[in-house]
Amino acid sequence: MFIELEPIFNNEGAEKSFSYEFSLEDGEIVKSIKAKGSVFNRTGIVSLEAQTEFLLDTACDRCASPVVRSMKVPVSHILVYQLNDEDNDDFYLVEDMHFNLDELIREDVLLSLPSKILCREDCKGVCPFCGANLNETDCGCKAPADPRLEALKQFLE
Ligand SMILES: [Zn+2]
Ligand SMILES: [Zn+2]
Repeated sequence: MFIELEPIFNNEGAEKSFSYEFSLEDGEIVKSIKAKGSVFNRTGIVSLEAQTEFLLDTACDRCASPVVRSMKVPVSHILVYQLNDEDNDDFYLVEDMHFNLDELIREDVLLSLPSKILCREDCKGVCPFCGANLNETDCGCKAPADPRLEALKQFLE
C-alpha cells in the first residue's frame, strides 16, 4: 500500500495507522506478509513502527526437506527526506512522498531472515555417498579409507 507522507512530515502529531497484508513475487521464500503499525510525527521526527507476521516456506539448507515456519519481525525506521552529515543506518531516506510501504517492509523482512535455514538445529543433512536423509535413516555408508592413514596403521602394526 501507499502512504502519503507529506501531511505527516508537515504536521506534528500526525499519524497514519495501517494493518494489511500483501503478496510477494513468485519465487520468494516468503509468500505474503501481514503488517500492522503506523507512521507518526513526534516533535518533527517521523517514524515508522510496525510488526510483521509471515510464513517462511522453503527447504532445509542441509537436507532439503521442506521448512515452513511462522515468523514475526519488527520493522522500525526514522524516515527522512534528506540526509545530513549524521548518516545513520536507522534513517531511511524517502525518495517519494507517495511512499510505497510494501517495498520497505519487504526489504526489512528479507534482510532479517537467517542466511542458513535448517529444518532443525542439529539437522544431520544427507549422506554424501548415497544421498540418504540422515535424520531419517542410518545408511551405514563409510568414508573411503585415507591411504595415508592406512599406511600409518600398517607401519604401527
Ligand atoms: Zn534438514
Ligand atoms: Zn549413505
